[in-house]
Amino acid sequence: MKQYSSLKDIQSDLGAGLITLPELVSMYLKNIETNNPKLNALIEVYGEEALERAQQIQVKYNSGEAGKLAGMVVSIKDNICFKGHQSSASSSILKGFESLFSATAIERILAEDAIIIGRSNCDEFAMGASNETSTYGPVLNAKNTLKVSGGSSGGAAVSVQANMCLAALGSDTGGSVRQPASFCGLVGYKPTYGAVSRWGLIAYASSFDIIGPITHTVADTTSIMEVISGPDNYDATALNKKVVTGSTESSTKKLKIAYFKEAIDSEGIEPAVKQQTLVFIDKLKQLGHEVKQVSFPYLDVLVPVYYTLTTAEASSNLSRFAGMHYGKRSELAKDLETTVKFSRSEGFGAEVKRRIMTGTFVLSSGYYDAYYSKAQKVRRLVKNYTDSLLEEVDLIVSPTSPTVAFGIGEKATNPLAMYLADIFTVHANIAGNPAISIPFGEDEAGMPIGMQLMASRCNDALLLAFSESITA
Ligand code: GLN
Repeated sequence: MKQYSSLKDIQSDLGAGLITLPELVSMYLKNIETNNPKLNALIEVYGEEALERAQQIQVKYNSGEAGKLAGMVVSIKDNICFKGHQSSASSSILKGFESLFSATAIERILAEDAIIIGRSNCDEFAMGASNETSTYGPVLNAKNTLKVSGGSSGGAAVSVQANMCLAALGSDTGGSVRQPASFCGLVGYKPTYGAVSRWGLIAYASSFDIIGPITHTVADTTSIMEVISGPDNYDATALNKKVVTGSTESSTKKLKIAYFKEAIDSEGIEPAVKQQTLVFIDKLKQLGHEVKQVSFPYLDVLVPVYYTLTTAEASSNLSRFAGMHYGKRSELAKDLETTVKFSRSEGFGAEVKRRIMTGTFVLSSGYYDAYYSKAQKVRRLVKNYTDSLLEEVDLIVSPTSPTVAFGIGEKATNPLAMYLADIFTVHANIAGNPAISIPFGEDEAGMPIGMQLMASRCNDALLLAFSESITA
């Protein structure tokens, strides 16, 4: 059966009567049955529910009343709450937890008739870059099953890569949408901080977290963003304006684009990735854009700042998992202290514990000024520098990740090596800017490479229009 990689194609076949929504969902369920047992991208499939919804939406479609996302079959990351369904953030501590309400982003895609087909595997509490910290085990890259999917939204990316659905909703705190998209040859989008409500997203680091789509095409990401972005009374940090509207201007303008000397010269960058980045820069020049090299003195401090601040926020956010209100309670619980102690010791995995301890340490009274306060100040410097640069240029380009998908197990026991994989993606979360990863070629072994473009805050529409114009 025909495989789809864009909503436009699906909607045109629906319109021509070449396919029905129940047939479309059945096709995805068949792909899930074939591919998922090996790849481990989806941890739960809502087969019957999705088929039932497909039938209902088909009726609406036939009478011309279906929403904008009719035909969009979506997987949702296991940290995005969906009423009446389980959400566990791929952690043992939340196994079996069922959400009482849906995330705003979920409400909005459902209101436009998207169909949710299942929930996707991820790193535990979205902490990781390879989907290896999940309590459900790693997700394998469909391009080469000895390689990681990327993370933390690894299941989200592979569900799209292996045609188990058309699009996925993931979350991005330091690259978790963009990096797996880049490892799987897909488009991954991290909106401006606050452009999508965090209501219903299980918190990791609240001043960094955002929900974002993974799709085959930029147009599909734009369609999803048009639906999920916008103000929300349930999230005080949500922007009070919609940054992506239906009238996204087509980008024919010639833009000014910068790239960082330090990024191109950074030592961890693989030769094939560096090579492709230079080819990409050349392509942008040939298209008539003005591309210039600039200096970025903060590259080496991005990862330390990110891990100081996100672990601090995580240590606070994750204190709610105490064996009291939700999730796991240890069998050894006897009183308050043993309930908290044993439930947390048994429920959290090693990486999450490492981050809670690091975060508690950087916030502790003797070290607060040396680490947490200092990192906040550097965050401000990075933000100011980025803002002033983006007054001179429209976009900043870099590779999404210094490497292609690495081997399963290759970095799993070396947290520092794993953290350095985030060097190019954390910048946008530290500064709050929108950033996209678009596929651009592959290495000699055929593994996909992604290019990242970053714009100034709230310039999501420009970033998406430009990305579409160079990928279409
Ligand atoms: N790899 C980064 C981390 O481990 C990013 C995670 C994310 O964006 N959720 O924190």
